[in-house]
Order: sequence, then structure tokens, then C-alpha cells
Amino acid sequence: MSQPDVKTPLAQHTVAHAWSRFDEADVQGLNAFLALDRDAAASGVEGTLAGIPVAIKDNLATLTLPTTCASRVLEGYVSPFEATAVRKLRDAGAVVIGKTNMDEFAMGSSTENSAYGPTLNPLDRSRVPGGSSGGSAAAVASGVVRLALGSETGGSVRQPAAFCGIVGVKPTYGRVSRYGLVAYASSLDNVGVFGATVAEAALGLETISGHDHFDSTSADLPVPSMVPAAASGERPLAGLVVGKPREYFPDNLDPRIAAHCERALQQLIALGAEVRDVSLPSTDLAVPVYYIIAPAEASSNLARYDGVRYGARVEADNLRSMYEGSRSKGFGEEVTRRILLGTYVLSAGYYDAYYKRAQAVRTLITQEFASVFASGVHLLFTPTTPTPAFRLGELSDPYEMYLSDIFTVTANLAGVPAMSQPIGLVDGLPVGGQFMAPHFDEPTMFRAAAALEASLSIEEATA
Ligand code: GLN
Repeated sequence: MSQPDVKTPLAQHTVAHAWSRFDEADVQGLNAFLALDRDAAASGVEGTLAGIPVAIKDNLATLTLPTTCASRVLEGYVSPFEATAVRKLRDAGAVVIGKTNMDEFAMGSSTENSAYGPTLNPLDRSRVPGGSSGGSAAAVASGVVRLALGSETGGSVRQPAAFCGIVGVKPTYGRVSRYGLVAYASSLDNVGVFGATVAEAALGLETISGHDHFDSTSADLPVPSMVPAAASGERPLAGLVVGKPREYFPDNLDPRIAAHCERALQQLIALGAEVRDVSLPSTDLAVPVYYIIAPAEASSNLARYDGVRYGARVEADNLRSMYEGSRSKGFGEEVTRRILLGTYVLSAGYYDAYYKRAQAVRTLITQEFASVFASGVHLLFTPTTPTPAFRLGELSDPYEMYLSDIFTVTANLAGVPAMSQPIGLVDGLPVGGQFMAPHFDEPTMFRAAAALEASLSIEEATA
């Protein structure tokens, strides 16, 4: 299976191209899509994405197709309104061809938690595509589309991008409206973008960015131009300081992943950047903090699925039994676990011990990012994940699955923009490198990523 052709311009990838690719044998059975709109056609809008097919994660509300969050509880649900990010893509001329598979309510790192079966990694069908936006990542990696939307609460775009060998971006919290993104953990949730290349991901993000009066947390700031100009000169990154945080390169990191990061850092130096060792000391607390705050917010956000207003209902002779039946039958195991965990950490007597402490550590993590960026560091560079794509069923212990999010949840806790791009291969599987930037500095991140993409060869590790 070939990776998306980096050199094909986006404009040549038409809807017809998407369907012909979709119908090829090696794409069949990936289970990347939960719903398709075979009749979707170019709208005639002469925007920057005129006629370009896009795929949308199934937790973003669309008028034309159901929005299920890969959950039984929302089976067949069609939203009466559309997510702002989706509307902005359509306003630019893009054509929504389908909704993509995901971990139920975006809870997971493998897309195995979907109520509609897992998505397979297009590069190796015995492996997961990552998650929770695994369907969108597989749709791009298999060449059906070159642009797709996902969502990020704790790495759900960057990690599947890394596992599938494509580009994935989580913007600054507030850069993109969350209106119409089904809430998981509202203080961490973002709409994110997958692209076959850095420039395509940047164009997608630029298109969906901006203030929206339907989301009071969307930032009222001008949207800068994000698509990087083609690098010119021998040292296009001269003057750029890239921090290498030591906590993201632990002694037990897979030496082949460490070697790829080192090669990428050397390339950044060759491009003119200065690489500086820095420290983000509270990094090891990020996973426990994330897995307290995210379930706490989820337990509140998911209270609305009660069988009354929408979604699946189990009829019963009293209200309480109807709630219990609908929720027990509607939610899968991982979602149930998170609701229980979240309810527990918010309950009287445990609130101070868990939730309040987690909030304090979150502030500490945010401050550590701020002080590194205030010291003259423009970007951080790290591995995106500690391992390449794992096998379906390999991480059966939820705790092990949570630990795999170690390098990605930090950016969501701090609200900073971050992205993953391919930097090499380990046994034929892609490895992702991650850039993180100060709040609202996506343009610098894309500039460095594009220069790296243009000059780094994607090869097997030699370590
Ligand atoms: N893997 C993380 C989780 O399970 C992140 C998910 C996400 O970003 N939506 O919560």
C-alpha cells in the first residue's frame, strides 16, 4: 500500500478520484467510514477548496449525514445544525463525502472502542490506525481524501497521524470553534485537521479557524495566513530556536524512535535552526492529570444521553429504569468506565483529593510551557508517540492504553498548538515527530514543519 502522493496538488484530487480510490480492493474493509454520501457533488463554490473531497469525524455535526460518535446511543441521529468547522469547509467549496469511524465519544487511542467495529491501519491491517480519530487518519493514509477533520482532547489527531504516516494538527485551544463538535471534555476539546502534507493540513486549519459567536471560547483574533511559503535559501530556519525537552526522551524510549528524532533535529540544525535542551519537569504527571480531568468533564457532558431527547431509548415502566436501561445499553465499556471514573473524582470527599489537585497540576504544566517559550524557545520538538502502531487487541489493559498518550496529552492540558508529521520508519511502520508552539503561533510551527518535510528523507531507522 502506497502512502498518499506528496507531490499531487490538492486541486487534482477530485470527488471522482476519491470514489475510484475508495472502490479499490486495498481500501475495502478498512472500516474507515461510518456513513458515505455517494451523491455529494461539487457545490460550485469557487473557494480555496473548490470541489475537494473531505472526510469528517463522526463527532462533528453534519446536516447531510448522521452524527453517531460511533456510539449505539446516537445510532441514526441526524443533527438539525452543522458544526462551524464543517460549514467553513463547505463555504470554501469542499465536498463532504463521508463521516469517519472513531473510538466511541472520542475515548480511546486505537479506534477499537467504536460500536461499529475497529478501523484497520491501511499500512498494515493487523495494526490499529490510532485513535480516537482513526477513521479520518485511515481515509487520508489510504489516499481516499487528502484532507479530513478529526478532534483532539488528548492526542486524537496527532497520534493517529503518526501511526498512519500523515500530518495531523491540533490547533491552539480557541483557534477553531467547537460549535457542533460533540463535547467530550470541553476544556480540552479541539477540532483538528489531517492532511497528506504539511501545506494541506495548514490550508485546512486556516479555512476552519476564526471567532464564532456560537462558541464563547473561540478566540476573537484575526486568522493569520498559515500555509507556509516554499522555503528559500540554504538556511530557511535561521534564527529559529527549537527546544528539545528531556522528559520526552526518557532512557526507555525505543532507540529507533529516538534515532529518528535525532535525525530530524540534525536536519533542523542543517536548515539553520538552533536546538536547545530544555525541561518540562511535570511531564510525567500529565497522563494521570488528563485521566482525571477528561473523565470528570465527560461524566457531566454525557449526562445528556438519557434516552429522552435523542438517541436510543430502552422503554421501561418508570423514568429511572428508562434512564438506566438506555444508558447501560447505549454506552460501550470504555465510555461507561470513564463516566464512572469521572463521577467518582467529582464526588464529595474525593473532589479535593483528585479533581482539585489535578487542576492545580494542570496549571503547573501550563506554566512550564509558558516559561520555556518565554526563555526564547520558539518551538519544541519531540516524538509523537512512544511506539509505532500497535496490533489490534495488543493493549487490552486500559491503563496501558492510557500510558501511550504520554507525549500528546500535555499540549491539550496547556492549550498550545501541536502537530505530528512523518519522520521515519521502524520495521516499515511510520514514526511521527511532534512540534509544539506557543499559543496562536501555528504559522511558525507550519513553517518549520514544511522545511523539515521538504528536506528529510523518510527511511528505516539504523539504530
Ligand atoms: N486517547 C485519549 C483518550 O482516550 C485522547 C482522546 C482524544 O483526544 N479524543 O481520552
